[in-house]
Amino acid sequence: MGIIKFDVVTVGAGVMGLSIANALAKKGLKVAVVDRDAPGMHASWKAGGMLGAQNEFSNDSPLFRLAKASRRYFEPLSTELLETTGIDIEYMETGLIKMADSKESEAALDRQFQFLNAHNDNVKALSEKEILNLGNQFITPGEHFAMHIPDDGQVNANKYTKALTASALHHGVTRISRTEVIAIHREGQDYRIKTSTGDIHASKVAVTAGAWSQNLLAPFRIESNATGVKGEVMLLEQPEVRLKDTLFMTNGFYIIPKRNHRFLVGATSRFGDFSSGMTKEGETWLWMEILKHMPRLKSADVLMKSSGVRPYTPTETPVMDEVENGLFVVSGHYRNGILLSPATGILMSEWIETGRRPAILNDFTIERMRKNAMHHQ
Ligand SMILES: Cc1cc2nc3c(=O)[nH]c(=O)nc-3n(C[C@H](O)[C@H](O)[C@H](O)COP(=O)(O)OP(=O)(O)OC[C@H]3O[C@@H](n4cnc5c(N)ncnc54)[C@H](O)[C@@H]3O)c2cc1C
Repeated sequence: MGIIKFDVVTVGAGVMGLSIANALAKKGLKVAVVDRDAPGMHASWKAGGMLGAQNEFSNDSPLFRLAKASRRYFEPLSTELLETTGIDIEYMETGLIKMADSKESEAALDRQFQFLNAHNDNVKALSEKEILNLGNQFITPGEHFAMHIPDDGQVNANKYTKALTASALHHGVTRISRTEVIAIHREGQDYRIKTSTGDIHASKVAVTAGAWSQNLLAPFRIESNATGVKGEVMLLEQPEVRLKDTLFMTNGFYIIPKRNHRFLVGATSRFGDFSSGMTKEGETWLWMEILKHMPRLKSADVLMKSSGVRPYTPTETPVMDEVENGLFVVSGHYRNGILLSPATGILMSEWIETGRRPAILNDFTIERMRKNAMHHQ
């Protein structure tokens, strides 16, 4: 590779790197997205695709407000991506049934219900009969508190990431795959990005390397307890089961109905595990939960078993900040990266282009992550 100079390089071609690259390319900037792997391997491609702007929150916070703002982008974005790329990201306005999995988790779910219902009176507590009706008799109601969130919605995360990739290419973004970024050096006004296939030069760099971001930022003295949380999922097909709403348990187990009689079933949480592929324990747990909550899926065909690593910070809040002049970090979106990606792309591209941080990002600084992490210890 000879000397190539870009306005902006994003390191990592997951939904964060792609959303930012798309937004910057639409503004006319010369952008490259560099990824060490072939497309399709990491969290953005494997995710459930739930847009949990309500399901994931129990109190008001800057992240809750950002999630609600990002949720609103999906309908127009799905149309735009279909027109630009021909890829249907399967945006659906379907709802979610959330059930407590134990007596102990009931109080927390009830508190979440009070909070969500105060914002949206369509969020309703569910009786056993209502669970049976909403689930077309396929869901086994538990003995504990349950609620219905009718409008969180979902997309097909795999198709969404594919569409963002196609859109980036359409808008002139250069994609550099199978190229690992080894180090980022400041050189005069620019950055020299040392990669496994040669150097790349850029005026600005955004580290969007998901759970691996801090490896690249260590030389810039960004110490944090950020890590990865591996999640394992299975894609099942069972034409006899008809389900519109997602079933979500408070222990993190879920069944998401997808198109063509398919069900994405997930997900384990293995802290600090960066490996890929399904473990025996993970698969056993998923089947145990399936049989407990939707036994008719027992005879489903297993189309795929896979995993991804969620980028985690100790406060479960993303970090979106400028590390030093022109070098940004955008990571830690944990369980909500798909949901948060449209707003992240738009806001970060504005900051990278103008040099001015949008006010809504004031709460996602490295400093705040450090302070809050200490507070959480
Ligand atoms: C099982 C599972 C279910 C999920 N369900 C949902 C859901 O329902 N809703 C939701 O909103 N979110 C969900 N998430 C979370 C969401 O998938 C993540 O938050 C999001 O994909 C993170 O995107 P990212 O771009 O930061 O990281 P990634 O998608 O991990 O992308 C990072 C990229 O960086 C590349 N990279 C790393 N290091 C380097 C390097 N040195 N050089 C070059 N490239 C590098 C990697 O190859 C990778 O492609 C789920 C995640 C998992 C695992």
